[in-house]
Amino acid sequence: MKTNDYISLLDRYGAQNYLPLDVVIQRGEGVWLYDVEGNRYLDCLSAYSAINQGHVHPKILETLINQAKKITLTSRAFRNDQLPLLCKELADLTGYDMALPMNSGAEAVETAVKLARKWVYQVKGIPQDTAEIIAFEGNFHGRTITMISFSSEAAYREDFGPFTPGFSIIPYGDHGALARAVNPTTAAVLIEPIQGEAGVIVPPDGFLKQVREICSENNILMIADEIQTGLGRTGRLLACDHESVRPDILVLGKALSGGFYPVSAVLADRPIMGLFQPGDHGSTFGGNPLGAAVARTAIEVILSENMIQNAAVIGEYFQERLAEIPSKHVKEVRGKGLLIGVELKSSAGGGRRFAKKLQESGVLIKETHDNVLRFAPPLIIDRDTVNWALERIFPVLTMD
Ligand SMILES: *Cc1c(COP(=O)(O)O)cnc(C)c1O
Repeated sequence: MKTNDYISLLDRYGAQNYLPLDVVIQRGEGVWLYDVEGNRYLDCLSAYSAINQGHVHPKILETLINQAKKITLTSRAFRNDQLPLLCKELADLTGYDMALPMNSGAEAVETAVKLARKWVYQVKGIPQDTAEIIAFEGNFHGRTITMISFSSEAAYREDFGPFTPGFSIIPYGDHGALARAVNPTTAAVLIEPIQGEAGVIVPPDGFLKQVREICSENNILMIADEIQTGLGRTGRLLACDHESVRPDILVLGKALSGGFYPVSAVLADRPIMGLFQPGDHGSTFGGNPLGAAVARTAIEVILSENMIQNAAVIGEYFQERLAEIPSKHVKEVRGKGLLIGVELKSSAGGGRRFAKKLQESGVLIKETHDNVLRFAPPLIIDRDTVNWALERIFPVLTMD
């Protein structure tokens, strides 16, 4: 079968809820992807940062195979010998007292929202069903009804109502708006330290600190969704680390899977996480031994192979070189570490044609919000490979 055969099969039998590039991947190794025709591409998307460790990392693969031979799922009705170790290692890694593993990112944010609501009722004693959570314009927290209930993206919401109440939306980066939005029913502020899906939007310097201060002053929880920005992507373990900000609730996902098996997690200290009681919340697959073992190794290789430091150094180099490209189409190059956004001018004709041209030259990216090209290769990428990519990006960004 050839590329077009696979494409027509999916067109015929698969739901059309995505508009993928017409490349059919068969194999991956490190930063490279290979399609069914044998063409090689540099992966500059990393499955939206789920592949920080690179494709089919040998150590994570070994863990997956060994664990799959022993035990894969017990449900939480019984205990398993991987979950306690994952929770401890997540706590050691992040400095929080306790962890709650889930599967998808949306589920983990949902868990954090439930936890914040529980906290405000139990600790602050406000009347039931009045809790409010403040989120930001341009946010992306997943695709469940609750997550899209406070999305500002019309396409994510249209035809999917009615929505979950209890959220308010304010402009991203505006601490004055946040201070005004806080009221006695506010439970938490839910924030992405950099908005990935919105187009790699980096808030003004000091904004995370201001959010932290407003939350502390008003005794409300700061929830950081670091599903995309966490685990080294921005050149620090967490993007919040750039401002030395410690959220009350931390949400991880994507790269916690090593790209093998979906694992997400919510982290908090005991006074908050300890509010969950048996029966409050759960998931059949959350905390399963296969996922837990994979996540443990996914974390281990990020640390032992210096991926965070590499993301900082190579990310800065990549961003600087991209910014030097004399392109009439580029409005701004921004980002942190290896989460880089190239915003195009409205005259550029949209990001899709650039993504297609890059595909032809062997670099895979995806445009986000029509006019932003996101460059987010696996954190193991080296300088030579970035230079290889730049040689291919240059002619595309400088085309007519
Ligand atoms: C991808 C993402 C999610 C959703 O994760 P899923 O695993 O797709 O449910 C939530 N928040 C952020 C910031 C993300 O980037």
